Amino acid sequence: SGEQAWEIVDRISSFKFQVSSFSAPAVKHAQITDGQAIIDDVVLTWFKGPNSYTGEDVVEISCHGGRYAANRILALLVENGARHAKPGEFTERAFLNGKLDLAQAEAVAGLIHARTVKAGQAAARQLQGGLSEKVRAMRNKLLDLLALLELELDFSEEDIEFESRQHRLETLNLLTGQLNELIGTFRRGRLVREGLRVALVGAPNAGKSTLLNAILQEDRAIVSPEPGTTRDVVEARVELDGIEVILQDTAGLRKSDHHIESQGITRTRKTIELADLVLLLVDESNPLLPDETILNLLGSKSVIFVQNKLDLRQKSQEIAINRPKITFFREIELSALTHEGVDRLNQALIEFLSSEDTAQAEIVVSEARHHDCLTAAAASIQRAATQLAEPTLMASDLRDAVNHLGEITGESVGESILDRIFSKFCIGK
Ligand code: GDP
Repeated sequence: SGEQAWEIVDRISSFKFQVSSFSAPAVKHAQITDGQAIIDDVVLTWFKGPNSYTGEDVVEISCHGGRYAANRILALLVENGARHAKPGEFTERAFLNGKLDLAQAEAVAGLIHARTVKAGQAAARQLQGGLSEKVRAMRNKLLDLLALLELELDFSEEDIEFESRQHRLETLNLLTGQLNELIGTFRRGRLVREGLRVALVGAPNAGKSTLLNAILQEDRAIVSPEPGTTRDVVEARVELDGIEVILQDTAGLRKSDHHIESQGITRTRKTIELADLVLLLVDESNPLLPDETILNLLGSKSVIFVQNKLDLRQKSQEIAINRPKITFFREIELSALTHEGVDRLNQALIEFLSSEDTAQAEIVVSEARHHDCLTAAAASIQRAATQLAEPTLMASDLRDAVNHLGEITGESVGESILDRIFSKFCIGK
């Protein structure tokens, strides 16, 4: 991509491109040669800027797969004056040349990194520009408001009011409502993008590792009859209903002066704090609950209560488990060993995922960066709404809000933010 793209490719290909005959894009079969030997049979596609991905002149070389041909051609290109792109450089150029706005450029990275169906779909929607359009509409409304306000400031001596305070307040309230609606989709957006974090919590030997394996259907966590042997959080990822579910087994939860194990308990706390959902496991044949300190952490969490080792239950046996005082999202009985009831747990996880579905919002915010900009914009607007009698202060708050929204689409964004965004890309995108 770039000014010399065609020229460089011309030097190494059998087909000499006639710039004058060019009507974009053009595709031709050609041979790549190093001047002595033919390296590969390829298809060349020429794009004339601005009608290309980057907005510059671009040539794409479709060669045969494998290591030899591609590496040899890349080396030849470099010998002839090209250089390798930095990660995300193609998309960065597309952004700088106005082919994509920043939120769309980020969606390209989202699409590349998507591991599940829904994450891919969300990124594809963002790439179409729906979020950008919404953000831009709000930003334009703010700019209109600001323009009148600044006019009023220019005429402040004459005490003219171009817009009533009441009208201004209504506009600000409307914008706050729209912003909050978007901000509210982030919970779901983050789930879709980053997955649902589920912590498996329970006394030692409750069957956490066994259950993890049952869900995974493969032996990832170590299962052992010794209490407290699961010292590390073992993570496993499965896809449920198009969304990634990250299951995290926690260390045996009990008071211990054993050094390694108490480290494990600290990590368990952290895992619970970061979890979207907790599976609280109890061995119904030996119904021990985790420590009080751990149970206290669950109060503010969504919890599924899992009564395990159902296979050990005698017919018509009454099970008396001292339940913690927590409101459970669901209660499930199962056997991690025989897998009986594990499908009910999967079902409950799917229900939990759909309960998080914020009204099937069409446009969902999935980037933490966008969420933070929207939240900052909402705060600035809130401040502006309390400054109706102080046009100068109000104008300054509105300008802040305009800038925060502009950071999402890239109208107002610093170089350091751009660097951070594009460095997350893979090479060649
Ligand atoms: P953890 O400490 O909570 O991770 O518990 P483990 O998964 O290591 O299980 C402790 C012991 O209980 C192992 O011997 C498992 O085989 C056994 N176990 C786990 N789940 C069940 C179950 O549903 N039924 C029976 N009978 N045994 C189970």
